[in-house]
Amino acid sequence: MNNDTLTVLAERLKLASRVLVVSHIRPDGDAIGSLLGLGLALEAAGIDVEMALNDGIPHSFNHLPGVEKVRKRVDGSFDLVVVLDCSDPQRVGGVLDRYSPPDVNIDHHVSNLQYAKLNLVDTEAVATAEILARIFPTLGLTITKEVAAGLLTGLITDTIGFRTANVTPDVLRLAASLMEVGADLHTLYNRALVEKSFLASRYWGAGLANLQKNEGIVWTALSLEDRERVGYPGRDDADLINFLSAIEEAQIAIIFVQQSPDCVKVSWRSQGGIDVSKLAEQYGGGGHAAAAGAEIHGCPYEIQEQVLFATKHFLENEQGKQSE
Ligand code: 5GP
Ligand code: MN
Repeated sequence: MNNDTLTVLAERLKLASRVLVVSHIRPDGDAIGSLLGLGLALEAAGIDVEMALNDGIPHSFNHLPGVEKVRKRVDGSFDLVVVLDCSDPQRVGGVLDRYSPPDVNIDHHVSNLQYAKLNLVDTEAVATAEILARIFPTLGLTITKEVAAGLLTGLITDTIGFRTANVTPDVLRLAASLMEVGADLHTLYNRALVEKSFLASRYWGAGLANLQKNEGIVWTALSLEDRERVGYPGRDDADLINFLSAIEEAQIAIIFVQQSPDCVKVSWRSQGGIDVSKLAEQYGGGGHAAAAGAEIHGCPYEIQEQVLFATKHFLENEQGKQSE
């Protein structure tokens, strides 16, 4: 990300009267927090804004200010379309169909495809929300209490509560500055990372009952049948992967979440500097070194076998490199 890009973005925003802000399917805290942060900041600056998420807002984030303004579908024309926290425009889903290619892409993924007319990609940032919080003053946008709640949520979730290896004193200072304008760390942290609905807890139970381990790989699978049996309403893993990645024996943790009879969402998490985004990219996905994912089409059983095989070989290779 350079200053020229930022200057161009500031100019474009000044001229914009109707802006569309979107993020990815199965949105996480950074996608939602960044969307609300930018959307509400633009609105406070007098700009007409639409915020849209293909899958809407999951229950665990419906406490955030501004969620009632987020739509699943939009129409009409926009003079600026901004995609947040999304390395690949395909991950936005149908909501972007009529507005492609987007004008602006603000993201922190190493695997970002630089698909927009203007790309602000900072892979050093812990979250897209961090990039936004740092550029808002230059863009002339005010971080109100409501904006800060979204941005702090993005920081909290992508760092899993400030415990990933990329958290620096500067990130903590930024979080503190968001608290100073009124974001309530205690509530936001608990809602995003600690509290679980009864149905999500039952879904965890199904996933934990299927838990497996082979060498340094720990994995589980959640089928459509599991989801139906426990009544879990989402298409995500209810954050079970964060728990799996904390299992001592897991150098790599994987979760397979069936999306449809012939589609599986795979999430990888790693310890000790192993870059699982390379594995995800082999399957058309992406992400970060320590957290990556891909949506894979085919027979769920075969996908699981193939992914486990590929991950085992990948891990052996990495271990070989580290012991050299
Ligand atoms: P998760 O496994 O929690 O869905 O995602 C972990 C990281 O990988 C996130 O940063 C997410 O944005 C990225 N990611 C997950 N699935 C995909 C995918 O299908 N494509 C791409 N490009 N990135 C993904
Ligand atoms: Mn993110």
